[in-house]
Amino acid sequence: MEPSRILEFIASHKLPNYRAAQFNKAFYQEYLTSFDECTTWSKELRALLKQDIIFSTLTVVTEQKSKDGQTMKIVFERNVDHKRFETVLMRHEDGRNTVCVSCMIGCPVGCIFCATGKMGFLGNLTATEIVDQVLTIARMLKKENQTITNIVFMGMGEPLLNLSAVEGAIQIFTDPNKMGMSERRITISTSGITDKLQELLKHGYTGRLALSLHAPDQTLREQIMPIAKKYPLSQLLAVFKQFAIQTNKRVSYEYILIDGINDAMTCAEQLATLMDPKLSHINLIPYNPVAGVSYTRSSLASIHAFAAVLEKQHIQHTIRVTMGDDIAAACGQLVGKK
Ligand code: SAH
Ligand code: SF4
Repeated sequence: MEPSRILEFIASHKLPNYRAAQFNKAFYQEYLTSFDECTTWSKELRALLKQDIIFSTLTVVTEQKSKDGQTMKIVFERNVDHKRFETVLMRHEDGRNTVCVSCMIGCPVGCIFCATGKMGFLGNLTATEIVDQVLTIARMLKKENQTITNIVFMGMGEPLLNLSAVEGAIQIFTDPNKMGMSERRITISTSGITDKLQELLKHGYTGRLALSLHAPDQTLREQIMPIAKKYPLSQLLAVFKQFAIQTNKRVSYEYILIDGINDAMTCAEQLATLMDPKLSHINLIPYNPVAGVSYTRSSLASIHAFAAVLEKQHIQHTIRVTMGDDIAAACGQLVGKK
């Protein structure tokens, strides 16, 4: 059984409840690298653990580091069917260690600029498979006395189309008896599945939200994100705005800059009119090349001109520094193949 079912294990072996707390601390907080390291348990009890509890649902296939050492891409194989997917660790200069988790293998949404979308949909990851990405990286960082500071659902897949697994993973990330992270250090990025977003919010989510916007109007958005036909932009933006008001925190809007497609000054002006300056933050992402897609990245001059329009309208924004593109670990480049 999975580690999250430790209480069942304890009940079935008639063990005292404090064993669950010991297990959770060792597994989710001290990041032990095998059950043999659970030294608060006797050898016999550890043997039972090994027999009944799956230590990890995933196996690391490869680890690749970018030249600057700031980005690490891990190819995982899930043990159940040997399908492969990727997870990225970004080590920021300010000390943050952000894990970009995958929630699916491939993605059914099919945005035309995205390598993951090009793969099609090969399956959902379970809550445990999402958590195991984070635990594997936490164990690696522990060797350098470092910890994970942020988790972003920006790897492979659309989090809102695998909502129960994503919520299950977040539950383990934030449970004070398990990983104990603040929900504010977690970001869900979505292509905009309005009904599922409403469900997430109804369940009381208070973490961060990012919308992959990429176009300032419905027509252009539909051209590059076919899913937009199903979820009109006006309704989607209204839900995001409402969430920002309720939580009194800015929401992020991601905007890839693709040469000649969505980077005109008129697009920047239109984008600015959609935003509430107090409740929004725009991440401008230089488009990362994807095999089989004819788009190219906007020039540096266009990116800065676009940003200048937002600046003039007092819309908070950053130009995202592209990390890990030398190892195909940048936004939209994850494909899960070697
Ligand atoms: N499915 C979710 C989360 C994963 S994608 C979503 O779409 O929001 C993470 C981010 O990378 C999204 O903003 C996505 O639009 C962006 N992205 C996809 N392809 C890209 C590319 N080729 N270049 C730059 N960003 C890309
Ligand atoms: Fe899926 Fe996000 Fe890629 Fe679109 S950008 S295909 S939603 S992973």
